[in-house]
Amino acid sequence: MSIPFLDLKRLNGAHDEAIRAGIARVLDSGWYILGAEVQAFEREFAACCEVKHCIGVADGLDALVLILRAYGVGAGDEVIVPSNTFIATWLAVSAVGATPVPVEPRPGTHNMDPGLIEAAVTPRTKAVMPVHLYGQPCEMGAIQAVAARHRLKVIEDAAQAHGARWQGQRAGSIGDAAGFSFYPGKNLGALGDGGAITTNDDALADKLRLLRNYGSTQKYRHEVQGVNSRLDEMQAAVLRAKLPSLDEDNAARRRVAAAYLQALQGADVVLPEVAEGAEPVWHLFVIRTPRRAAVQAALTAEGIGHLVHYPLACHLQPAYAGESWPALPIAERLQHEVLSLPMAPYLTAEDVERVAAVIRRV
Ligand SMILES: *Cc1c(COP(=O)(O)O)cnc(C)c1O
Repeated sequence: MSIPFLDLKRLNGAHDEAIRAGIARVLDSGWYILGAEVQAFEREFAACCEVKHCIGVADGLDALVLILRAYGVGAGDEVIVPSNTFIATWLAVSAVGATPVPVEPRPGTHNMDPGLIEAAVTPRTKAVMPVHLYGQPCEMGAIQAVAARHRLKVIEDAAQAHGARWQGQRAGSIGDAAGFSFYPGKNLGALGDGGAITTNDDALADKLRLLRNYGSTQKYRHEVQGVNSRLDEMQAAVLRAKLPSLDEDNAARRRVAAAYLQALQGADVVLPEVAEGAEPVWHLFVIRTPRRAAVQAALTAEGIGHLVHYPLACHLQPAYAGESWPALPIAERLQHEVLSLPMAPYLTAEDVERVAAVIRRV
């Protein structure tokens, strides 16, 4: 029996009835953009994240771009980002004309090292964008302390961290604002693209509601030059069907992670560390080994799925060629050593043991 990296059909199958009922509700309503489902989802997701406002948008990248735009970040400005992240974090900064300034991670947690932020601050720095990578919340206390000293906005990229907590606070409720993605493979995934912004900042929330809908609150009156970036009714209905199970699904991921950590104890691989005060949601379970190719080959031979997040650091991507970047040796080493194992709420103890046995053998 093979173990796929992630079986989305199986994942969504657990919510089959509720998803179909949600889709039928939208179809029957005759109202497909910015209606009752989006409004209800925004209320429910805000409650889940323990924030005042949630604004549904088209996807996770747009969520980050719109936050930056709403805070007036643009050409000539700098935004501090992690050196190892999915490229969307960097693209959001570039999209508004600002410059991403990379900071290296702690190799153990894979997350931005708060001790390195201060050295990256210049008079042009406007914000810091910590990414809760693989579902592990960043060390937000230290990040916020630096940000406060330099009057920087803290914009969480929470696209991999739905439901995670840092010292009791939900990811998405800690910084000034946060961007979420509902891409199908995320811990809370739609049946297509979707995204949201969470914030306690009333003025920002008002601006974002304008920006995402052509700069308009009243039909055919446009206050600002906005964009079209809306979560649609169908995806909102699907997300509403899945949201009540998010904490339970994340608890199941924690059990899978604990089983991996125990089964791989003593194996010749580096296991993920959890920072003090962090309650991760294990979007991905990422190990490190310099002998990655051998482990990948053995897993493939056994029909076990695996992926690399991410094989090429952002600053080495063709999209960012020709710009001068500082030396980023940690990001460059991680890209050769990280390996993501199957991770999903439905995985059993036997599945985990099968994967771990292959790795121990190599
Ligand atoms: C998925 C992801 C995004 C972007 O989300 P999309 O919905 O695909 O646009 C941003 N940041 C991180 C860290 C992500 O994993």
